[in-house]
Amino acid sequence: MSFYPVMTEYASVPLTEKFAAVTEDDVRRSLNKMTADVDDFINFMSPAAVPLLEEMAQKANRLTEQNFGKAIQLFTPLYLSNFCTNHCVYCGFNCKNKIPREQLTMEELDVEGKAIAATGLKHLLILTGEAPAKAGVDFLEDSLNVLRKYFPSVSIEVFAMDEDEYVRMVAAGADGLTMFQETYNEELYATLHPKGPKKDYRYRLDAPERGCLAGMRVVTIGALLGLGDWHRDAFFTGLHAAYLMHKYPEVDISVSPPRMRPHAGEYEPVSIAEDKDLVQYMLALRLFLPRLGITVSTRESPEFREKILPLGVTKISAGVSTAVGGHTQENEHVGQFEIADSRSVPEVCEMLNRCGYQPVYKDWEPIKLDTKVHA
Ligand code: SF4
Repeated sequence: MSFYPVMTEYASVPLTEKFAAVTEDDVRRSLNKMTADVDDFINFMSPAAVPLLEEMAQKANRLTEQNFGKAIQLFTPLYLSNFCTNHCVYCGFNCKNKIPREQLTMEELDVEGKAIAATGLKHLLILTGEAPAKAGVDFLEDSLNVLRKYFPSVSIEVFAMDEDEYVRMVAAGADGLTMFQETYNEELYATLHPKGPKKDYRYRLDAPERGCLAGMRVVTIGALLGLGDWHRDAFFTGLHAAYLMHKYPEVDISVSPPRMRPHAGEYEPVSIAEDKDLVQYMLALRLFLPRLGITVSTRESPEFREKILPLGVTKISAGVSTAVGGHTQENEHVGQFEIADSRSVPEVCEMLNRCGYQPVYKDWEPIKLDTKVHA
């Protein structure tokens, strides 16, 4: 049970040369196939695919509408705590950064939850740093108990847990897990995470799978593009998603492709993924995995988010604050990173409607086991 052996098999392949060896004919052949495999994914991600982006976009759009219609699910993140014991060099909440540390009380959380629910949102993503003594599994259980009054769907984007802890999260009402590997480059990962529990690369790599085993309904993965060679990280993210989709067909697997944004630290991206690169990555993902969820965050600008909607996007965030208490409290807070799209929920819905898309607030209802089923 691990993606690690699959990843290490490909890590020994000279990927840059493989990408460089692809021809336009190879890309066309891949485009004409009914179903794509890993070699096709390599072709779609290669420089030879760049002149064919328009054809790729048309097929990606067809596949997206076949599988998801023109529905885009909305969600918003809620930061519960910014205490953290990790030293991730690229993050504003890094424990070495001198920022005010805050954590919502259950009363404050209730106020935030109620305020977000009043915007109509039903899908919530809760986030913390990694500080188990302050905001550990018990705190999250208490938080889920408060929030499930307001939200039928709550996902967690927190520290990596053991499987039995994920089981506790599911029992407390979490139905989704988001876990970014940050970079799939194991050596680089060690330098970016010099200290703290997140230093354990394998434990984090296998966390999405532990979430699948624990009964999460939705599992979202991704790499933070820019930490390392974005092209390699994008490729391994797609490979990881394919592995999880194949092994856990009952779980909705999604990818989020965040790019680095300014934050309270000083780390600069080493590999810039331009807009056209992100477009190619999204198209390659959609053509490789037609049923994959693709999430686009408010790290991207309003104009860019609007432009890429037809290419495969299935979820977007709206009404976002990346600061603890940022949805209701008025004092100065430091966010995890700067967002590029600060539009409210109604503004994002207006944009979706104008572009011919249906904003989806809630796409499912939990089955109540004591409900009588009529034939
Ligand atoms: S990325 Fe997460 S774990 Fe790392 S410093 Fe930031 S909040 Fe802490």
